[in-house]
Amino acid sequence: MDSTLVSLDRVSLFYHTKQAETQALEELSFSVSEGEFIAIVGPSGCGKTTVLSLIMGLLTPTKGSVTTRDGRQKMGYMLQHDHLLDWRTVEKNVLLSLEVQHGINEQTKQKALALLDRYGLGGFRHSKPAELSGGMRQKVALIRTLATDPQLLLLDEPFSALDYQTRLRIADEVYSIIKQERKTAILVTHDISEAISMADRVLVFSQRPSKVKSEFVIEIDKAQSPLERRNDPRFFTYFHRIWEDLDA
Ligand code: ADP
Ligand code: MG
Repeated sequence: MDSTLVSLDRVSLFYHTKQAETQALEELSFSVSEGEFIAIVGPSGCGKTTVLSLIMGLLTPTKGSVTTRDGRQKMGYMLQHDHLLDWRTVEKNVLLSLEVQHGINEQTKQKALALLDRYGLGGFRHSKPAELSGGMRQKVALIRTLATDPQLLLLDEPFSALDYQTRLRIADEVYSIIKQERKTAILVTHDISEAISMADRVLVFSQRPSKVKSEFVIEIDKAQSPLERRNDPRFFTYFHRIWEDLDA
């Protein structure tokens, strides 16, 4: 079977409002293979979220095509804000995506709850989101996404609302969960260091209308955690090259 899960082929996208027409993307192309961890970096407002919306099927390209191998039901997303429901317990929040997709039965329920245990949140099953730290809430949001067993995870600046230290720690944990669960991931971030420390490949988007300006294959030991990868001497070389590309 072809290992390409998603591909965008010369995608252009225009937004139309009463006042104006905005071109977000211009002939943008890239593809993602099964098991890959891709990061997308680019200036604010360049079209990163737009690309995720196209992949999810929430938008249709004005020109070009978006192809997904296994359809959209195999996708899950994690956003900057965890969108946990405050009146539901952690457990009930985790089961929400299964309920919404009508996929809840004893087996899927037990699998979802086992994820909470496996990733250190079993003791908080009956807590309300307000009793958790920001980092823990993001982990609950990830587990809720994983409960429907998606193949591809779309992560839109999932750590931006966290303070710096929590952000580093949760990035490590989220990375290890994604690897253990063998998911493919696309991470959108404006943080170059985060992109290099987590991804196999970093795509740099240009200013709007955006296209892929450059691409970096990150050849830092994949067995290392994101935090460890930050200490690799090559980390700084990648950082400077991506920084220059973003700036130009
Ligand atoms: P990013 O995620 O990289 O910050 P977005 O993909 O959200 O950027 O937006 C790209 C551009 O498209 C921005 O200029 C934004 O203002 C515009 N845009 C995004 N969504 C809409 C919309 N629903 N209607 C009109 N313009 C939009
Ligand atoms: Mg965005």
